[in-house]
Amino acid sequence: MATATLKPKKKRLNKDELKDAETTLRKKYKHVIPGTLKNLAAVGNWSGKRTVKIKCATPRCGNERKVATSDLAQVRYCERCTLRRRRQRRHHAQLRAK
Ligand SMILES: [Zn+2]
Repeated sequence: MATATLKPKKKRLNKDELKDAETTLRKKYKHVIPGTLKNLAAVGNWSGKRTVKIKCATPRCGNERKVATSDLAQVRYCERCTLRRRRQRRHHAQLRAK
């Protein structure tokens, strides 16, 4: 068994690979906006990650949000809607607890 091995660094993709990667992502995640997949960033918040833009899943919201491709499975809403939904969930949880 491998113990605490470092994750292999992701490699930068060439243009064609990037296009393929986006096609694959879009099959899996319908909220990915076409043409927004970006190669690995060297610095900043997104360093070592590929990013893509998604469209918020709230009807009539339409906001875009930049997310790491590794977070796509969890992130479906823009930041504003995520906060609002989190507040609502907490509110409902309190109601149920009574
Ligand atoms: Zn939204």
